[in-house]
Amino acid sequence: MQSVTLSEMALFTILSCCNISLGFTLTDSAPDDLPPNVNAANASVEEMRAFFSGWDPKLRKILSLADSCTKWKLQSSDQLDLPAWVHPQGTFCLLGDAAHATLPYLAQGAAISVEDGGVLGGLLSKIRSKKDVPRVLALYEQMRRPRTSAVVLASTKQRSIFHMHDGPAQQDRDRIMSTQYPPQPGHPNQWADPVMQEFLFGYDADNEVERTWNDVQLRGHHAGNVMNYAR
Ligand SMILES: Cc1cc2nc3c(=O)[nH]c(=O)nc-3n(C[C@H](O)[C@H](O)[C@H](O)COP(=O)(O)OP(=O)(O)OC[C@H]3O[C@@H](n4cnc5c(N)ncnc54)[C@H](O)[C@@H]3O)c2cc1C
Repeated sequence: MQSVTLSEMALFTILSCCNISLGFTLTDSAPDDLPPNVNAANASVEEMRAFFSGWDPKLRKILSLADSCTKWKLQSSDQLDLPAWVHPQGTFCLLGDAAHATLPYLAQGAAISVEDGGVLGGLLSKIRSKKDVPRVLALYEQMRRPRTSAVVLASTKQRSIFHMHDGPAQQDRDRIMSTQYPPQPGHPNQWADPVMQEFLFGYDADNEVERTWNDVQLRGHHAGNVMNYAR
């Protein structure tokens, strides 16, 4: 798959700290100097410490204890016009990051990948013949595209919110984050936004499959004809 690298973005993952098996990630706009087609590589702790030299002393103290780190490329499909997830012959399909690479700011990439698997498995459990596979794959893509696109875009939006430069917008963000309780719709931390919470965590792949499949039946299509619905 063709992928888009956010050229100004990379991410440091500290592998070991104080000889304890401890790992955490730090993200900021770091230059992406990894070679093409290399998604992660060892990085120097000096480079990492220099990059975060202006940050809070507590963070710098933690970084001073690290003895190794890696650097990851961050990729997002929001700039990718992937024409289809399903092969024209209906013989295979994409799921997970291959279909919708997502920035980690909402921590949802794996979650929506697992949802893909749940929906795909649920739909495949409905078929009666191999002939139905291409049709069901088309229905899978139709069911999953809108939701995964929304999560990808929301993750990219959260990056912009977290990475604001100092100024009025940043002050507004910090004021709401520190004073608004309970969080209201539109809260700058989308994880705390009650509408977003319901969207992110209220999805039930099994229910979605049943609802969509029943809809297919109501429209008068039996399983062998589900492609008519998916078109
Ligand atoms: C720092 C960071 C933090 C994250 N935190 C979260 C989180 O908290 N919650 C969350 O939901 N998501 C999180 N994610 C996102 C999550 O890791 C991914 O969305 C998820 O791993 C995607 O799963 P996948 O199976 O689609 O792809 P991958 O996990 O990338 O798996 C693809 C596999 O295919 C293998 N492969 C590649 N090419 C070939 C080939 N040619 N032949 C054979 N094998 C091949 C790879 O080695 C890999 O094992 C995070 C991501 C990052 C980078």
